[in-house]
Amino acid sequence: MSESPDSTDMSARGSVGRFAPSPTGPLHFGSLVAAIGSFVHARAKGGAWLVRMEDVDKPREMPGAADGILRTLERFGLEWDGAVMYQSRRTDAYVQALEELCDRGLVYGCACSRKDIAEHAHMGMDGPVYPGTCRGRLGRARATRAWRFVVPEQPVCFTDAILGKHCFDMARDLGDFVVRRADGLFAYQLAVVVDDAGQGVTEVVRGADLLLSTPRQLVLQQALGLPVPEYAHLPLALNEQGEKLSKQTLAPAVAAADVASLWRQVLRFLGQDLPAGLERAPMRELRTWATRNWQPGRVPQHSSRVVVQL
Ligand code: GLU
Repeated sequence: MSESPDSTDMSARGSVGRFAPSPTGPLHFGSLVAAIGSFVHARAKGGAWLVRMEDVDKPREMPGAADGILRTLERFGLEWDGAVMYQSRRTDAYVQALEELCDRGLVYGCACSRKDIAEHAHMGMDGPVYPGTCRGRLGRARATRAWRFVVPEQPVCFTDAILGKHCFDMARDLGDFVVRRADGLFAYQLAVVVDDAGQGVTEVVRGADLLLSTPRQLVLQQALGLPVPEYAHLPLALNEQGEKLSKQTLAPAVAAADVASLWRQVLRFLGQDLPAGLERAPMRELRTWATRNWQPGRVPQHSSRVVVQL
């Protein structure tokens, strides 16, 4: 791992991918799929691969998880370029982005409580759609709690490298979304957009649970005049009950698992045609095979159940 190059150095590599874990717990099979998928996708093109610790939501952080994740990535041979970026150290950049959005009249202070919203909102694709109560009123009467971004009326479309073309009616299905939370913390959507641009990321490869975040990130990029990366959303690994593997569904940590076996399981989960001759191959050989033979076209579009052998 080299020392702290900036995004200019990275752009010399042509393509720049990244893995952006939230340190809310140790890596499990689901997060390893995103780590290996983004790593192989970047390295297959000779691109850089960066790691960003999304520790913006301090109350949800688990002590020691960030370091644990980095050690696990190293164990799995996922060597990143440059220094790890920590969102907790990026507040100035987020403040500046929010100011720009304010200057352009694209955000407003929202005084609504969760209860106000629940009473007036209809259900959208990703929970209740904010009914726009404070739009244009800038929280005059009551104290501003959160800051919301005004979504456009026209559809927002993009072509995902795995899932194909998607169009969203944001006003109807997603609503004005929070960029700064009532507790003062910056929201994931704003932080990601500022940091992907700050790190010169050209390809975002991540789990399909974030597909509904993509139109929000696209409109923020447009509003802030930032470059738009390509997006590829990977299938989610589900447990036997059909739930996404996560900390909440008690997915087991992979930190101490057999590294080569997990690489094989992840590559098969991602639809790659691993030759039988690699059944006993060590991790480094699997990694080399994967970056030479990566076929994004084989990655399944649908999430599926997995029984992980740890
Ligand atoms: N930090 C997010 C997560 O762990 C991922 C963000 C992203 O890849 O855009 O779910």
